[in-house]
Amino acid sequence: MRINLHNFIRTVIFASNATFRPTTATAHRAFSASRAPAPLRSMQIPIFGALFGSSSSSSAKKMDYPVKKTEAEWKEELGGSKTFGLTPYDVLRNAHTEPPGPTSQYNKHYAPGTYFCRGCSAPLYTSDTKFDSGCGWPAFFDAVPGAVTRHTDPDGSRTEIVCSSCGGHLGHVFKGERFGNPIDERHCVNSLSLRFRDEEEGGKKEESKV
Ligand SMILES: [Zn+2]
Repeated sequence: MRINLHNFIRTVIFASNATFRPTTATAHRAFSASRAPAPLRSMQIPIFGALFGSSSSSSAKKMDYPVKKTEAEWKEELGGSKTFGLTPYDVLRNAHTEPPGPTSQYNKHYAPGTYFCRGCSAPLYTSDTKFDSGCGWPAFFDAVPGAVTRHTDPDGSRTEIVCSSCGGHLGHVFKGERFGNPIDERHCVNSLSLRFRDEEEGGKKEESKV
């Protein structure tokens, strides 16, 4: 009996590719890479470190933003209480992703008001643009004008969103998912990057310029 080596090699190659094929579930695809931050970070090439002077994948450390603090100051302010092992510092300054679902504080939160950056208190989103994407993280179809800056991830696969004032990592933005919202975008944001205030607490619409 003769082994067909050509077919055998094709089978092995197919199986290898299939192993890394992303799931077709959009929401899962959206954050599948975030659930494995270590491999992504290990893929960083030296040129990124040379350009941005940082070993972190977070855009918070790559560019210049109006609100500037030392890492020690950020850690002092944001490194306190942990939610499933993560502090706001881990998410905002080092681009970690909180677990999805019930532990994500604002995932199913729909009270009227404004969502501010937990790092610098800039208004980022209003309840008027929040919707239930089912992905397990807070979802918005638009941000306060100018409040959010976009960066393509180093591997080119996703678009990171950060606070335009302090560069704090918020999450990622996705287009064309047809959730039926006016802009057809989904800002998928970590609750740990946000702090909500209702209208009585100062989260009025006019404050967020919407
Ligand atoms: Zn900020």
